[in-house]
Amino acid sequence: MALTGIQIYKLLPQTNCKECGYPTCLAFAMKLAAKQVELSACPYVTDASKAQLAESAAPPIRLVTLKSDGHETKVGNEVVLYRHEKTFYNKPGLFIRVRDDQTVDEVKAKVAAADKYTVNYVGIDLTIDGFVVASIKGDPQAFKGTVETVRSISKRPIILMSRNPEVMAAGLSVLSGETPLIYGADAQNWEAFADLAAKNKAALAIIAASLDELADLTEKIKAKGVEDLVLDPGGRNLQGGLAFETQIRRLAIKKNFRALGYPVIAFPGDAGNAAAESIMAAQDIAKYAGFIVLDTFTPEHLYPLIVLRQNIYTDPQKPIQVQPGVYEINNPKPEDPVLVTTNFSITYFSVANEVEGSGLPAWLLVCDAEGMSVLTAWAAGKFDAERIAKAVKGSNLAEKVSRKRVVLPGHVAVLSGELEGELPDWEIRVGPREAVDLPAFMKQVL
Ligand code: SF4
Repeated sequence: MALTGIQIYKLLPQTNCKECGYPTCLAFAMKLAAKQVELSACPYVTDASKAQLAESAAPPIRLVTLKSDGHETKVGNEVVLYRHEKTFYNKPGLFIRVRDDQTVDEVKAKVAAADKYTVNYVGIDLTIDGFVVASIKGDPQAFKGTVETVRSISKRPIILMSRNPEVMAAGLSVLSGETPLIYGADAQNWEAFADLAAKNKAALAIIAASLDELADLTEKIKAKGVEDLVLDPGGRNLQGGLAFETQIRRLAIKKNFRALGYPVIAFPGDAGNAAAESIMAAQDIAKYAGFIVLDTFTPEHLYPLIVLRQNIYTDPQKPIQVQPGVYEINNPKPEDPVLVTTNFSITYFSVANEVEGSGLPAWLLVCDAEGMSVLTAWAAGKFDAERIAKAVKGSNLAEKVSRKRVVLPGHVAVLSGELEGELPDWEIRVGPREAVDLPAFMKQVL
């Protein structure tokens, strides 16, 4: 049973050293009881206390990690119901399904295209997470052959689908040394599947028609020593999926109901057509799937999902940043201008894309403004004349350019006088407020 904040406090060092980021041990204990921090944030907890606190320290939704050669997909370990309460940490895995009744060429073509699919979004490379191999024929050799085909093309983690233990064992024989997810155990086969999961160190998905049955099965399987579980509560339409996934999440996080404290697997691919699949997958990303199985793989189908997932699982308290420094756009020459901006990723890409698209060469100096946009950074004192001057001096731009011109973003025109004082050898120009106006400014004014 979960401990209260006061009970947890009695097991902490009670020195109020603040190293955990909270002013007192009691404040930290309250946060721990609310599942909003992790015990590891306090470096001084004794081993004896750790053992007693294990239950309170455990996340309400277990972390399940699938592993293969060089790849890992982590899901779960979430501690809040809504992102505005804190943040979401482990993105749901997007898995593309192939079936053992497809031809080898069909499987190879789908896996190869999905495996190499990459989207660069605000400087981050986004990809799918792995593949699902489904047994349709019920034939161990056919299943094994399809798993081998997938593995010959992609090294990403695999989810195996069959309710037949013999078929599943054949598929698992291809993946020794990996941690796949096997789907799945139900009321009839759960003992055999628990044995398979334990023997092969695989995560195990549990299928049940109701939450009561699901909770009952997780307890039985856990008692057999299998800890990494994933839940399939059914609900193959928008309403049913949302209801089940929300109930599971609420029970796990708000009620600390351990029997349902596991990630959920969702099957928008079962929707029957690509449009319905997209809508269901988008809902599953937002609320609250851990693994998402897709049948359709095309870039136009996947792109909105992968970007939506990135946006929801980006910590709103930590802006996405690019590396400060000098970026050369369109092979600038010494006579070309130096444009200045901040290292907030969206700001950087807005400016860089406009200039690059115009074909005009420029040196783009990205200042460290702690990942804030121009106006926000200026208001917070993170983008001032002193910082810009320091970035110019630290960049060796003076040696690269023959005409020393710095173009400030129009939103911080107010800094131009002060910057002239900081950089007496440089000509300070005030550019447009919006990145979209930069090409015209560069052509007409510079
Ligand atoms: S780091 Fe540990 S000892 Fe220090 S204030 Fe936090 S909980 Fe207390």
